[in-house]
Amino acid sequence: MKRILLANDDGADSPGLQAAYEALAPLGQVTLVAPNSQESGASHAITLETPLRAAKLSDERGYRVWGHPADCVKLALDQFFPDGPPDLVVSGINQGSNGGVLVHYSGTVAAAKEATLQGYAAMAISLCQWKDPEYAASAKVLRLVAERLLANPLPRGVLLNVNVPKGPYEDLKGLRWTRQSLAPLSDLYERREDPRGRAYYWLSGTGPFRGDAERDDLIAVEKGYVALTPLRVDWTDESSYGGGGGGLLGDGALPK
Ligand code: MN
Repeated sequence: MKRILLANDDGADSPGLQAAYEALAPLGQVTLVAPNSQESGASHAITLETPLRAAKLSDERGYRVWGHPADCVKLALDQFFPDGPPDLVVSGINQGSNGGVLVHYSGTVAAAKEATLQGYAAMAISLCQWKDPEYAASAKVLRLVAERLLANPLPRGVLLNVNVPKGPYEDLKGLRWTRQSLAPLSDLYERREDPRGRAYYWLSGTGPFRGDAERDDLIAVEKGYVALTPLRVDWTDESSYGGGGGGLLGDGALPK
């Protein structure tokens, strides 16, 4: 019996998480450990200064945690798998894209990343539909990809970031192996005034957000493909490292 840990950043009551649970249940024993509330944009935040509380879900599927997505995975791996570690850690299904540079803000990706940092096989999955999300197709994709990952894990230190276009399963063009787009966000803050006349700001959108290369995850999704992007947790830049700092930086004695 395979063991699967399921987390997310949209909260324990989100429909995407429930869809993921149903999709994964036929593959093994699924333990759901998710934040109590909406944690999108939390990235890899963890709780250090306050107690981390968790409560069993009433349907016995797992736990809700008063913490961040990465807290959920850290706590679960240490406390909630007494019979042995999970064979796969899944985060999602997120409401909205986690393609391109959004991986750096995403709590969904961070939950999977935490598992990868600890040496477990992990994937994040997001439905690229923010408004009125319909999870049926992405749930089907999740089951397929999770089954393949359980049989053939990626190398240690690599997690799989999956982004699914909106629309029915029949309309998906297929799977595409992609790179993370580096197209920059252009933030849109809405300026408002509170009843006392003081300005406040609300991040209301990300403006134009387009990829620019053939194997780019954003382009693949735009064309109707499921984008599968392998992400490394080793951030070392190989070209700088291998070049020994270009003679300017690198190994050497400090000046007296
Ligand atoms: Mn989210």
